[in-house]
Amino acid sequence: MRNKVVIGNWKMNKDNEDALSLIIEILYQNKSLIDLPEIGIAPPAIYLSHFTEKLKNTNIYLVSQNAYFKDNGAFTGEISFSMLNSIGVKYCILGHSERRQFFNETDAEIALKVKQSIKCKVLPVFCCGESKDQRQNDSYFNVIKTQLENSLFKLSKEDFLNVTIAYEPVWAIGTGLTASANQAQEMHAFIRNEIKKAYNSEVAEEIRILYGGSVNAKNAEELFACNDVDGGLVGGSSLNAIDFFEIIKAARS
Ligand code: PEP
Repeated sequence: MRNKVVIGNWKMNKDNEDALSLIIEILYQNKSLIDLPEIGIAPPAIYLSHFTEKLKNTNIYLVSQNAYFKDNGAFTGEISFSMLNSIGVKYCILGHSERRQFFNETDAEIALKVKQSIKCKVLPVFCCGESKDQRQNDSYFNVIKTQLENSLFKLSKEDFLNVTIAYEPVWAIGTGLTASANQAQEMHAFIRNEIKKAYNSEVAEEIRILYGGSVNAKNAEELFACNDVDGGLVGGSSLNAIDFFEIIKAARS
């Protein structure tokens, strides 16, 4: 059975003092609860190293929001997957729509990042999703299929098993619009079937597919109850420890 995971993506938010307060509140909320799903926190990269200490011996894993696909070298401003691994980062979000939109990341570049991430033993959380236009003109299944084929399906089966997928319809990210439980389930089942075709049904059953796009304390339970929704990638609502933990509780099995 797939265990659920909820990852909070802080994006480019929180100065040092606020970031510290939030992580302390998160640890406090976490303390009294049992049977929690896997929890990940993706703070801005500048805090990762410091948070390693804070999250030591807890059930909360560190997640990076990005990294570069080269081993090392003259790439000013970038961080490598091996650096992430060396400080104990477990996951890295890749292919987020904001990276695609504002930093021109292509499917091909994301494919290189996914490969390098696995090579360096940092587990990729691969984001895919369609725009509002693509949803409205009914090309959304094809869009997702192409993203999967271009960035993931060239991996060997062994490598692919390291991947977590996050379906994040771009029209739902940060907009307050959420995919309905039916829309989410429909797409997650489609993705699982594409995995089955590319690999096999055992692999398809093992891969976790998270939903992301305006998940909040009110809609999380219905979304996470869907058969093929294995947790969430949460942006805005992860910036408040109480809201974030309401979402985490909704993912308890
Ligand atoms: C995200 O950025 O991955 C995300 C899902 O954001 P939000 O929850 O704010 O829509």
